[in-house]
Amino acid sequence: MNHKKAALLILMRRHSLVLIFLTSLILFNTVEVRGQKPYEGKTILAVFAHPDDESTVAPILAKYTREGAKVHLVIVTDGRYGTNDFHDHIAGETLVATRREEMKCAANQLGAELTHLEYHDQLKADEGYDGHVPHARAIVLELKDIIEMVRPDVLITWGPDGGSTHMDHRLVGASVTQVYLSKQWEKPMSLFYYGTPSESIDDADTKILRGQDMKYLRTKISYSTEDLSRAFDSYKCHYSQIDPKLTKEEFINRRNKNERIIYLRKFEAPSKDSDSLFD
Ligand SMILES: [Zn+2]
Repeated sequence: MNHKKAALLILMRRHSLVLIFLTSLILFNTVEVRGQKPYEGKTILAVFAHPDDESTVAPILAKYTREGAKVHLVIVTDGRYGTNDFHDHIAGETLVATRREEMKCAANQLGAELTHLEYHDQLKADEGYDGHVPHARAIVLELKDIIEMVRPDVLITWGPDGGSTHMDHRLVGASVTQVYLSKQWEKPMSLFYYGTPSESIDDADTKILRGQDMKYLRTKISYSTEDLSRAFDSYKCHYSQIDPKLTKEEFINRRNKNERIIYLRKFEAPSKDSDSLFD
C-alpha cells in the first residue's frame, strides 16, 4: 500500500467515525424530542360560568393536558339553580355542595387544576341593581388576580353569544375580556372565545342568537377519540345535571358529527393607530 492509499484509508475511517458520531447524536436527540411533550411549559386558563360549562371545550382541554400543557380551569358560579328534569334536586345550598364535588371530579378527569369561585348562579340578578352589580364587579377584580397569579399563555372563555345565550355565560366572557383589555400584561397572552358556526345551526333566529360566521372562527382544534373519551368521563362527573342513561357511545357519536373539531375565535387587536373611521 502506498502512502496516498494509506492516508485515504485513515481519512475514510475518521470520516466514518464522525458519521457514526453524528448519526448517534441525531438518534439520541430524536429520542429526547419524542420523550418530551409538545406543549410542556405552556399554560391555558379556561374561564366559564357554571360547573359543567367546561364540557363545551373538554376534549381540547384533555388534548392539551395530554400534550403536556398545564390547564387551569376557573368556574365562576356555584350552580345553585341547576335543577332539571333528570333529577329531583332542590335549588340551593345542598345542590351547591353536590356540584362543587362534581366539579372537582370533572376537573380531575381532564387533568386540570380547578379554582371554583363562590359567586351565585344567575349572579344575584333577582336582587336587582344593588345585588347584581357589586357581585358582577367583584368577578372582574377577582379574575384579574387569578390571571396575574396563573400567568397563562392562552385564555379561553365565552364570546358575546355565551354559547347558549345564558346571561351568566355572556357576563363571564365579557368580564374576562374586560380584564384582558384593561392593561398591558407583562407576559403575552392570547384570548380565544368558544364559537358555534352559524352554518351548523338550523333555526334562523338561533343562528343570530348564538352563531358565528366561519370567517371569524379561524382557530379549529381537532382532538382524538381518546380525548373525547376523557371528556365523557369528565362529563359523567356532573351527575346532577345529566341524563343518567347517556352512554359513552351516544356522547361520542354526537360529538363525532362535528368531525371532532372545536372552533374558536381569536381576539385580534388593531395593529396600528388610525385617525379615520373609514380606513
Ligand atoms: Zn352554564
